[in-house]
Amino acid sequence: MRLSRYFLPVLKETPAEAQIASHRLMLRAGMIKQASAGIYSWLPLGFKVLRKLENIVHEEQVRAGHIPMLMPTLQSADLWRESGRYDDYGAEMLRIKDRQDRDMLYGPTNEELITDIFRAHVGSYKDLPLTLYHIQWKFRDEMRPRFGVMRGREFLMKDGYNFDLTKEDALHSYNRHLVSYLRTYERMGLQAIPMRADSGPIGGDDTHEFLVLADTGESEVFYDSAITDLRFGDRAIDYDDPAQCRAVLEEFTSRYARTDETHDAAFFAQIPEDRRRVARGIEVGQIFYFGTKYSEPMGATVQGPDGKPVPVHMGSHGIGVSRLVGAIIEASHDDKGIIWPEGVTPFHAGIVNLKQGDPQADAACEAIYAALVALGLEPLYDDRDERAGGKFATMDLIGLPWRITVGPRGLKNGVVELTSRRSGESEELPPEQAVERLARAYAGHVLRPSL
Ligand code: ATP
Ligand code: MG
Repeated sequence: MRLSRYFLPVLKETPAEAQIASHRLMLRAGMIKQASAGIYSWLPLGFKVLRKLENIVHEEQVRAGHIPMLMPTLQSADLWRESGRYDDYGAEMLRIKDRQDRDMLYGPTNEELITDIFRAHVGSYKDLPLTLYHIQWKFRDEMRPRFGVMRGREFLMKDGYNFDLTKEDALHSYNRHLVSYLRTYERMGLQAIPMRADSGPIGGDDTHEFLVLADTGESEVFYDSAITDLRFGDRAIDYDDPAQCRAVLEEFTSRYARTDETHDAAFFAQIPEDRRRVARGIEVGQIFYFGTKYSEPMGATVQGPDGKPVPVHMGSHGIGVSRLVGAIIEASHDDKGIIWPEGVTPFHAGIVNLKQGDPQADAACEAIYAALVALGLEPLYDDRDERAGGKFATMDLIGLPWRITVGPRGLKNGVVELTSRRSGESEELPPEQAVERLARAYAGHVLRPSL
């Protein structure tokens, strides 16, 4: 992409309404624009990151054997009356009437809708296990929408639902989700710690929240610092093997890590003092096992091996996709701007032409651009006729992991400058070597055609 042809409305001023870094930076970098309280338009740069996160979520869900689909945002109130949640949900639910005076709602979550699909089409235990998921916009009329996309009213969520014959099978589904979530967040360059949580209005027995540690997080968390040493990494796992999934869950939940809702001060006190941490975290996902809570009242049964109908055991599992954009920025920025992890960056590298219009500099930039594209990478080429300082400030603000700076003086010596956004370190090297470096930096990342 050439910046002269892109739509990147960066702001010079720091927006007064933004209280936290990620919100400020998303506005300043032209990623989002507020449409109304807690509702945002995703401008091209923000949309690109959102799509990258969606892709990672899809890939990891499919890898775990979960099946993608899409349910609507608007739902009929009737289904929610069946489960008993229409009245329980309260003011967070946006209730709408259609022209026939029917009660509708903008879905805050989808347990009812998916259970309705299940009961219409699945009749036998032989069709289990089954996990369906989608990535779809949700609406919750939050009392205090704030912090930009972190606590929006409209937000994008991956929500998945497992259907199993027995509790044991459903717990395998639970564990499988936990493993897939660990992989998902790590690919996004994040450490999200599973913490035992409280089940809240969804109700249920087992639940973990995934929290990214950040001072601006809304949740108070208590944990044993030893947990932060754990990484899932690139280990191979057979998702169909309950023992393997359980072993990962046990490993990642063996250390004390809880939100304030489930915190146990006496238990916490037994951890060696130098490892006890009280901090704040951003909830980026949650997994639930809730048994037959919806399948019983809604009649989602299958015929068991003995021919008798049994209600299925279910769980639901959410990832806050749009919130993650903010969470990643909270975890990775400095006073100049965002620092994207390589797995989610909107463009792989910036090319800065120090002297636009200089035939040599222009040609070198074009050649680097073409070489990066040939590798499957997406460069953002700042080809505007602007001062170098302004170009650098924009690149630092939007946070691409790498910058290649091209100018007549360097070219005389056959070199360009390659700069790492994270370390700030620069190196002079021939253009082909700079391209090669980027090829290596992105080896192992999934590259896909641009939107
Ligand atoms: P919270 O406690 O932050 O209100 P929740 O526990 O009600 O969230 P879940 O029902 O678990 O949310 O939804 C799954 C995920 O969706 C959450 O882990 C979070 O990342 C995201 N999410 C929930 N509410 C919002 C919101 N208002 N704006 C953005 N993302 C949200
Ligand atoms: Mg939650």
